[in-house]
Amino acid sequence: MTHDAALVWFRRDLRFADHAALSRALQGSRAVYCAFCFDTEILDALPTRTDRRVEFIWHAACELDAALAERGGGLIVVHGRAREEIPRLAARLGVRAVHANHDYEPAAKARDAAVRASLAAQGVAFVTCKDQVIFERDEVRTAGGAPFAVFTPYKNAWLRRLAPGDLAPFPVAEHADRLAPPGERRDLALADIGFRPTDLGALGIPTGMSGARRLLEDFLERIDDYHRRRDYPALKGPSYLSVHLRFGTISIRELVGRAHARGGRGAQTWLSELVWRDFYFMILDHHPRVVDHAFKPEFDALEWDNDPVRFAAWCEGRTGYPLVDAAMRQLNRTGYVHNRLRMVAASFLVKDLHVDWRRGERYFAERLNDFDLAANNGGWQWAASTGCDAQPYFRIFNPVAQSERFDPQGRFIRRYVPELARVPDKFVHAPWRMTPGDQAACGVTIGRDYPPPVVDHAAARQVALERYARARRRKRD
Ligand SMILES: Cc1cc2nc3c(=O)[nH]c(=O)nc-3n(C[C@H](O)[C@H](O)[C@H](O)COP(=O)(O)OP(=O)(O)OC[C@H]3O[C@@H](n4cnc5c(N)ncnc54)[C@H](O)[C@@H]3O)c2cc1C
Repeated sequence: MTHDAALVWFRRDLRFADHAALSRALQGSRAVYCAFCFDTEILDALPTRTDRRVEFIWHAACELDAALAERGGGLIVVHGRAREEIPRLAARLGVRAVHANHDYEPAAKARDAAVRASLAAQGVAFVTCKDQVIFERDEVRTAGGAPFAVFTPYKNAWLRRLAPGDLAPFPVAEHADRLAPPGERRDLALADIGFRPTDLGALGIPTGMSGARRLLEDFLERIDDYHRRRDYPALKGPSYLSVHLRFGTISIRELVGRAHARGGRGAQTWLSELVWRDFYFMILDHHPRVVDHAFKPEFDALEWDNDPVRFAAWCEGRTGYPLVDAAMRQLNRTGYVHNRLRMVAASFLVKDLHVDWRRGERYFAERLNDFDLAANNGGWQWAASTGCDAQPYFRIFNPVAQSERFDPQGRFIRRYVPELARVPDKFVHAPWRMTPGDQAACGVTIGRDYPPPVVDHAAARQVALERYARARRRKRD
């Protein structure tokens, strides 16, 4: 059916290429308007007015607007509650349908249901489609028809199901003659939505479709070594595309297609990470209770200390464990944390400091540029052993052993914990082991220049093991 006019509501899909909702709207309507809403329901909840994510979105929206304008269209940008603004805009433009891509977060699903109801009351259709994942909700199921709860069989079934059609791009540019001009044009400044510029540019984080493309081209030069380099935070191993996947400045189909076509161990390992992404979206969609509960309900009974002094030491990167501190300082300074370090820092908070995983998850959520509820919750519940297919509870990362293995010369540590720059390699993972003579020789005094360990790992590990075992026993009794 061809509608006269339609509106495409962009959310976490800020690109003008391979875009399911835009493609569908362009092919089914005579005139297509495009809009983005800076949703005050999301923005008002942010703790500061200098938020890299907001600036990232703003840059991406500007680039998208320019791409649309080149073809006679443009992005209508509104600021307010999306659940009211989108139906209002649809009424003002007189469209017959609003198109958007699926979102799987509980709050977004509730918002979309409200928008759908308001639009229906106006006689406007709300047409949504899959775009941000390869397979959603029930598309990959166990032989018995249930959703998977274990990753490896999910991944195998995912790979078996993958067909060329799943990676085919949704055509956009070919139908661009149907883009409608947005009406009166007005350049939107970050200040107009109440936010200030951040250090995004100074950090060299590329934004928008062009930024994603640059990162991808750079990564494709290195992808064959991904499996060898990805665990070493001092190396340029991963793609750094997570923030772009978060806001959809690049298509997941293109990334999976590139990895699949490339083949080899590096590309296959990277493809697995993209499958983890689909997996956690599927888990969140099926089990929205994971947002504030353990996937494994027995672990909701875990006892926590939630000591505010220890939590503050973790947040600020002064636990006395250099790799944990380097991870937290990387987070605080840049909004990015290497995957290995996310695992180490999360495990340390939960199993060494005995702080509820939900507090750590929230801290990451406030600061990660790539914060994504599905992946962040999945990652935290993995590290806390409360999640589906998580790290077994008795496998507790030793922060010193992790440091020796993955940052052997302490290069990453020294980058983020400069006070340890002159500590010899053999002590950089556990500087408290230096004798007073060693400390004098390198000019670093533990307790003055760098803190002593906030807990003893061996003792803290024992307490964690007992608590996890107790929680499981309670379930059995
Ligand atoms: C405690 C914890 C919290 C995390 N929080 C987030 C988060 O909020 N947002 C986020 O995107 N990732 C999160 N991750 C997963 C992972 O750490 C990041 O995706 C990755 O470090 C991003 O860097 P990259 O793009 O260079 O990754 P690459 O190694 O290049 O991976 C490519 C892409 O695969 C996806 N991916 C990789 N690993 C995972 C994973 N374990 N789960 C789901 N998707 C994955 C991401 O989209 C990533 O961009 C978390 C992991 C842990 C252990």
